[in-house]
Order: sequence, then structure tokens, then C-alpha cells
Amino acid sequence: MTTFANLTPPKLPEGSARLREDLRAFLAESRRALGWTPNSNFIGVFSAEFSRALGARGYIGLTWPKDYGGQARSALERYIVTEELLAAGAPCAAHWVADRQSGPLLLRFGTDAQRRDILPRIARGECYFSIGMSEPDAGSDLAAVRTRAIRTVQGWRIDGAKVWTSNAHVNHYAIVLCRTGPAGESRHEGLSQFLVDLKTDGVRVNPILNLLGDHEFNEMVFDGIEIPADRLIGNEGEGWNQVRSELAFERSGPERFFGTFHLLLATVEAARERGDGAAERAIGRLVAHFLSLRSLSLAVAGMLQDGRDPGVAAALVKDLGARFELDVLEVARDLLPGPPSRPEPGAAENLDDALGRAILQVPSYSLRGGTPEIMRSIIARELGLR
Ligand SMILES: Cc1cc2nc3c(=O)[nH]c(=O)nc-3n(C[C@H](O)[C@H](O)[C@H](O)COP(=O)(O)OP(=O)(O)OC[C@H]3O[C@@H](n4cnc5c(N)ncnc54)[C@H](O)[C@@H]3O)c2cc1C
Repeated sequence: MTTFANLTPPKLPEGSARLREDLRAFLAESRRALGWTPNSNFIGVFSAEFSRALGARGYIGLTWPKDYGGQARSALERYIVTEELLAAGAPCAAHWVADRQSGPLLLRFGTDAQRRDILPRIARGECYFSIGMSEPDAGSDLAAVRTRAIRTVQGWRIDGAKVWTSNAHVNHYAIVLCRTGPAGESRHEGLSQFLVDLKTDGVRVNPILNLLGDHEFNEMVFDGIEIPADRLIGNEGEGWNQVRSELAFERSGPERFFGTFHLLLATVEAARERGDGAAERAIGRLVAHFLSLRSLSLAVAGMLQDGRDPGVAAALVKDLGARFELDVLEVARDLLPGPPSRPEPGAAENLDDALGRAILQVPSYSLRGGTPEIMRSIIARELGLR
């Protein structure tokens, strides 16, 4: 129960308001220069140009040591940057995963050579990562992965397939969870993580279209690919603990409840125009929920800042966030007189377009990073209920 004992949001550090103002100015300028339109899906719009510009301003790898291209700033300052990028609906898909979890994973478990090679490039917004965890029969049950890595004279040989790999068709690397030894009694032994260059001979990336018809995720197939020995991340056989720490980064951020932020804004606008009292009350409740989630999520950022394990609290934010996103959808649906239109790519985010897009997209948001049942089972274990 210790995790839930103190979920009070910490005070934001001095200079936060200035950081927010600077970033807002950059985002307004970048929107004019690059012509992007706001999008609530943080991995939906890939723009290397945007990520490079963000990196050049020092906003990627914000918490990493300066030696590795970072800015040595706090997790709470990173929270502000993340929140502003989401509120603006900026095209963050290129650098998001690398900045949020692959870089921190390498910083924690990688060799110095891996860090020096990769982290400065991520921080410059030039190097993009995919998450190679899920497989056809190993999504929630990650310990069941069957992709196998075997030692060879020169390094490792990998055979297997991953699925739902976001942006593998445009990213440079994937961090791939493989079985390297027997599972043991707990099934958590014998797993290891590898840094795989997606241009390696024998890597095939096959598109999977989502309900919108967009190409966002993929199947990745490894046909006996050969990778050098120095691509093992951390220690052989310790992949399970490493993956758990990566998932804590993946689940803990404000992106877990910003998936309908632009729909919420469009809903507020529509209710204002119509002077609909019932809708205003429903929106008031949603805004109160949004602010509570923000407090919780800030508390998680505070835990990261203090070096505490945010795993269970992050699961709480993720599960409540996914429910909140669906609640926004319901309120928006009640406000629209007819069925929403099917959105065109890049459509302006009025209520009709935003709702059409959200109906097809939002249900999947609860799955990525771990399903609601899995989040609740983590929380139940912490509460001593299972
Ligand atoms: C938009 C999107 C992007 C994604 N991007 C990536 C990515 O880049 N890389 C990656 O590796 N994966 C990615 N995923 C995969 C995602 O993390 C998995 O979909 C997720 O972990 C669930 O696995 P699964 O689809 O195999 O479902 P399953 O594990 O088969 O689950 C099916 C259903 O059974 C339930 N269930 C399963 N086990 C239990 C249990 N023990 N108790 C109770 N209920 C249970 C689940 O909650 C779910 O409702 C992405 C998914 C989405 C939707």
C-alpha cells in the first residue's frame, strides 16, 4: 500500500513558467513554419523536421546528463515539456518513444559505448526507436515471447516475429525482447533485450493498417538476422526486470489521458455556441477529472524525480486515463446531432472531425502500454486483493 500513501503532486521547480512560455513560443513558430495541425495521438504524426527542431532547442533528452547530449534538468521540467507538446497536438511520433523510454533504458542498463553512440543522436531529434515487445501470442503475457536469440561466434542470431510495432517502417532501431534461455519456474528468467538496427539484413517490416486506414503499426519479422555481440542491452537473462522498468516510463506520462484533449476542446466550443446547460455540466465534470488525473500524473513524475519506482502508480494513471478518454467520447457524441463524418487525413479538428477520428482510434489507446485488466491486476496486487 506504500505506493498509494503519498500521491500528492510536487511543487513545480523554479523557472517552470519560463520553460512553458519558451516552449509555447517555439511551438507557435514551428506550427507557422511547418504547417502542422494539432493531433491528439502522440504517435500519430511523424515529422523528422519537427523532432530535429525540438532537439536543436534542447527539449529532447531533457533529464539526461550533459555528457550524453542531455540538459541535466529535472523529471518535473520534462513533465512540463511533455504536457505542452500534447496540449499543442504537436507531431511528436518520430522522437517520442526514443525520448520517453528507449533513451532512459539505455542510460540505465546500456554500456557506455551504446550510450555515447545513441543518446546524443536521440537528443538531437535524429534517431528514432520502436518497442519490440508484443508478439501474436505474447501481448499481455510478455513472458511468453518466442522470438529467440542464440549466441554465435560473432554475436547473436535472432529468429521470430513481433507485432503492433508502432512506426517500425520509419524508425531506425527497435529494442527487441527475446528468449535467450530457459524460462525457469517464474517464466521470467532467460529473457534479454537487444538493440536492433532496422536496416539489418533479414529484418522485414510489414504494414498493419489501423481502423482509420492509417499505417501506424507493423509486423516485424526477423529471419535469422545476425547482430554484433555489443548489441545486448544490460545483462543476458535480465530482460524481464529491464522491460518492467521500461514499461514504467511508458505508462506514467500525461499522454495517458491527453488522447481526447483536442476533442474535449472542440466539445467545450460546441457547448458554448449552443448554450447547452446539461452539456456544460458534463464538461465541468470532465474538466475536474482531467485536473485530478493531472495531479496524479504529476505525483508520478515526482516519484521518478526522487528515484522511486512509479510502476503501480503509473498503472493507476494509465487505467483512469483510458476511462477518462472514453468518457470524453461519450459527452462529445451526445452533443453532435447526427453521426460524425469519417475524417480525412489532416482534417481540421472541429467537433465532427475530431469525434469521427476519436471513435475509430480511442478504444485502442487503452490497449497500448498494457490493457485495463492488466493495469487493474497490478493495482489489485498492490492493495493486497490478489
Ligand atoms: C495503438 C497501439 C500501438 C501499439 N504499439 C506497440 C508497440 O509499438 N510495440 C509493442 O510491442 N506493442 C505495441 N502494442 C501492443 C500492445 O501493447 C498490446 O496490444 C497489449 O499489450 C495487449 O496485448 P494483445 O493485443 O496480445 O492482447 P492479449 O494479451 O491477447 O489480451 C486480449 C484480452 O485479454 C485480456 N487479458 C489477457 N491476459 C489477461 C489476464 N491475465 N487477466 C485478465 N485479462 C487478461 C486483456 O486485457 C485483453 O482484453 C500496441 C497496441 C496498440 C493498440
